[in-house]
Amino acid sequence: MKRISSLLLGILFLTGACAPVAKIAPIPMIQEATSTPSPIPTVVWTAMSTVTSVPTQTPIPAPTLPPTAIPTFDPIRFTPPTLMLHRPNLQFDSLAFLKDFITLLKLNNMQVVTYRYISEHPDVTAIEKGKLFIITIDDIFLAYPIDKRVLEMIRILREAGYPAVLSVVTETDSPDKNNVALLQDLVKSGWEIASHTDTHLNLGRAETASLNLVYNEVMISMDKIEKAVGVRPITLVLPGGDMVSDVENIQRTDIHWIVGIGDGNTYDVRDSLIYVGREGPYKNAASTWRVMKQRFGF
Ligand SMILES: [Zn+2]
Repeated sequence: MKRISSLLLGILFLTGACAPVAKIAPIPMIQEATSTPSPIPTVVWTAMSTVTSVPTQTPIPAPTLPPTAIPTFDPIRFTPPTLMLHRPNLQFDSLAFLKDFITLLKLNNMQVVTYRYISEHPDVTAIEKGKLFIITIDDIFLAYPIDKRVLEMIRILREAGYPAVLSVVTETDSPDKNNVALLQDLVKSGWEIASHTDTHLNLGRAETASLNLVYNEVMISMDKIEKAVGVRPITLVLPGGDMVSDVENIQRTDIHWIVGIGDGNTYDVRDSLIYVGREGPYKNAASTWRVMKQRFGF
């Protein structure tokens, strides 16, 4: 009876979807069906209780797994598009370029991060895929006052709320006091200080002469940065961008990220030492954006 009245109601709704409700809704039939349910025969009830009454009366055991499944992400990730900047020179005004580039980052709602941030939030490259960006500025010498235009680049990045990765060449045992104070302050705001070796040595070429040289260049610079700034780098930005063939000597230093130029568009989160590439800049912010978009697929 209940099934028949529901069926009838369904048909009526289907045939008169646009008609006023009062004309089609058979309210009395529904009320009749729900208010006077047909008694279930005892035999059926007995049969049902033997089968179904146990699970409905026994408390449901608490699930051993969390109610929502933890998502598992693919360990192979796209490297966030990474911009390579140096101080302005006669050929290229990286300060003016950066101002335009920040506008593009804002327009596209990009989240600017560092390698260290990714190490601390390993799932971010899966969750925020296509929305992350990394900015690196090379050749910050610990011993010499930082170029005024580079200081201005740092200032506009801070103003935009973007952290960057500063690649530091250590070279000296007596770091510039102002540099140290600035770097310490930047670290507190989420910036990353990367090793750019002790003497800005091209490690790809140096390894043909001595593998120990590679190890020492990285290790000494890490020690000096830690002593001056208080944080041990986990990232090595390769001077000249040439990757080494024998990574063991860098692996021994506890560096986690090696940043070069070519390749490294994807990485595997399971690797203890990760090589990543970076790009640009080109003629202007818009053309650089296009090239990076094509390379890193964001
Ligand atoms: Zn350099």
